Amino acid sequence: MVDLKTPAELDLMRQAGKVVAAMLAAAKEAAAPGVSLRELDNVVAEVMSAAGGKSSFLHYHPHSAPTPFPAVICASVNDMVVHGIPGDYRLKEGDLLSVDCGAHVAGFHGDAAISFTIGEPSPEDAELIETTRNALYAGIAQAKVGNRLGDVSHAIGEIGRTRGYGLLAYHGGHGVGRRMHEDPHVPNEGRAGRGLKLKAGLVIAIEPMFIAGGRDNYVTEPDGWGLRSADGSRAAHWEHTIAVTPDGPVILTAP
Ligand code: MG
Ligand code: MG
Repeated sequence: MVDLKTPAELDLMRQAGKVVAAMLAAAKEAAAPGVSLRELDNVVAEVMSAAGGKSSFLHYHPHSAPTPFPAVICASVNDMVVHGIPGDYRLKEGDLLSVDCGAHVAGFHGDAAISFTIGEPSPEDAELIETTRNALYAGIAQAKVGNRLGDVSHAIGEIGRTRGYGLLAYHGGHGVGRRMHEDPHVPNEGRAGRGLKLKAGLVIAIEPMFIAGGRDNYVTEPDGWGLRSADGSRAAHWEHTIAVTPDGPVILTAP
């Protein structure tokens, strides 16, 4: 069931979104050569707590996972596409890092992700990161009253496929609200003009995940969480939680 939010609820969701934006900014600021992913997680957790947020991810336990998620951020390095558990790995110059996090504030969740490199990106990484980000904003631009969900999905997929990137199979965005994952599922590929009609008050996380090697396949880490590209190529992931409003799409997780 798709739960539409009232304007007052969207105001509350904006609070959660601002905390998520602060968490991601802190992660980018702290990510440097020699810093471990666990240390990065601790930095973000402190920023979240100071802002009055609770983690959407910590202890999250969907049916598909063998154990609850043990951290505040997902930290996915290089060929890890999403859901990396932040452990002892220390970042190196040239790593491509995707950080995804969520916060629960005033009864609602926010969910967003960014990708960046440690130090200067290679031309290939710069293009992968930029193209994935462009796909996010192309999807957001389609999140308008009267459009259909397929318009969002189509805008995202077209950008990735045109460039020859793979899309992480079976993964995409989702409704966000009192639960982190609500209906509808938001595929990263689809047919324009098809699917759910978008109404004011719909809140969705839009999250393209592109794989440089061009294939959609992935392998799951032994921990049951991390998803790596099957071909070992690098991946990027960008995400915002957005609201469909009479005035157009509003990015709730903007800084
Ligand atoms: Mg996320
Ligand atoms: Mg999400």
